[in-house]
Amino acid sequence: MEQQKLLRNIPKVDELLTLAGETGRLYDMTEIIPPSAIRDAIREELEELRGRILSGETAQLPEPGDILESACHRAYQDQISSLRRVVNGTGVVLHTNLGRSLLSWQAVSAVEQVARSYSTLEYDVESGSRGSRHSHIDSLLAEVTGAEAAMVVNNNAAAVLLILSAMGKGGEVITSRGELVEIGGSFRIPDIMTQCGCTLREVGTTNKTHLFDYENAIGEETRALLRVHTSNYRIVGFSQRPSLEELVELGKRSGLPVIEDLGSGSLVDLTAFGIHDEPTVQQSVRAGVDVISFSGDKLLGGPQAGLILGKRTYIEKLKKHPLARALRVDKMTIAALRETLYAYRDPEWAKKNIPVLRMLGQSGQELHARAERLRLALEGFGGAARVVETRGQVGGGSCPTQTMGSWAVAIEPGEMTVDQLAEKLRRAPVPIIGRISQGQYLLDARTLGDDDISFVAERLGEVLW
Ligand SMILES: *Cc1c(COP(=O)(O)O)cnc(C)c1O
Repeated sequence: MEQQKLLRNIPKVDELLTLAGETGRLYDMTEIIPPSAIRDAIREELEELRGRILSGETAQLPEPGDILESACHRAYQDQISSLRRVVNGTGVVLHTNLGRSLLSWQAVSAVEQVARSYSTLEYDVESGSRGSRHSHIDSLLAEVTGAEAAMVVNNNAAAVLLILSAMGKGGEVITSRGELVEIGGSFRIPDIMTQCGCTLREVGTTNKTHLFDYENAIGEETRALLRVHTSNYRIVGFSQRPSLEELVELGKRSGLPVIEDLGSGSLVDLTAFGIHDEPTVQQSVRAGVDVISFSGDKLLGGPQAGLILGKRTYIEKLKKHPLARALRVDKMTIAALRETLYAYRDPEWAKKNIPVLRMLGQSGQELHARAERLRLALEGFGGAARVVETRGQVGGGSCPTQTMGSWAVAIEPGEMTVDQLAEKLRRAPVPIIGRISQGQYLLDARTLGDDDISFVAERLGEVLW
């Protein structure tokens, strides 16, 4: 009987909406939440209340204001996208699961401009007629790399797909057995070949492929020689493969193009950062490779994109291929990529302005100082933490055999286990992602921004101390 009365007295959706209007709550929310989503949240909240009354869990009706508050909370929770900012404390600079590279502020600002406004995407202001979306990037890309011609597609996987479809279809493409790469997400060189309608002609062995292996395999059906950078693994020890120059020379002699999938594709020499076995794009251009492809969001530090460089005749052919239209990039990618490439006009400037390069180039002193600042901030919140020396990875399927020295803060998890701590931090509205190593919860200074420090300290203070 009592239950019936409670149920009857549950406020109506419209009553709560009126209340929300009167208190100004609705006005604030409709800035970011559409009215029907607010209505849905209220309805769900009331439905749940009804359930609690029926099960006997709730014996007294909450105040309408409290019900409204819960409904608002529900609406805001629902509004939070599953794609959102995280704090990266893993030390992995190119973390594929955390969105790979961060864009420079110049790139972000360019994206915002073309996203908000109409733009010259395919409009030539000189002639007042139709222009080409390729024009914004291609000559700059050719200029900073020294290549004859260039183009851009959605990602490097798309670039390889386009190149092999346009240049290998119906024939054989020769590749070393040591380079039959699998990248995450089912991108495998042999499968891509099949998809593109080419026959993979594997030569050599896993550890050794000689120039004569390629030479002996060349025949009527051969369309191209393919070199793949083993970006996410290395074959070391008793191993050998011909140099790019030798391969190019063989290509010339046989009238066949040499194609190279460079994977990461760095435009600057990274040896100063302690990264020794990443080839640069310019090396491949200088070696005379006919068509080169690499990612925009790995070591280049730009948006997701597939950059293609090479001899003009081949690039022209790629641009005309029907797949090119299907794989074309949008204006936001073009805007971000143009600013990223522009930074490479001066490699030293690029190292300061492109976040990926800046993070990789930090000195031990800088990293230690940032870790120390985080430790001090944590102390301010009553926490216990130590600064420890650590090693991190570059990530993004780059530099697989290299780790970089870094400094991290090891958090004392108090009553919790490190796994519980990791989970709590992960489930926050702005998730904090750390690394667990040898039973310690670490936040690596390399990937923490300067403005992450106080945020992380505050959040840990709430969770732990
Ligand atoms: C990463 C990588 C790809 C795929 O590049 P995406 O830009 O992620 O599509 C292809 N080939 C190699 C060798 C790679 O390292």
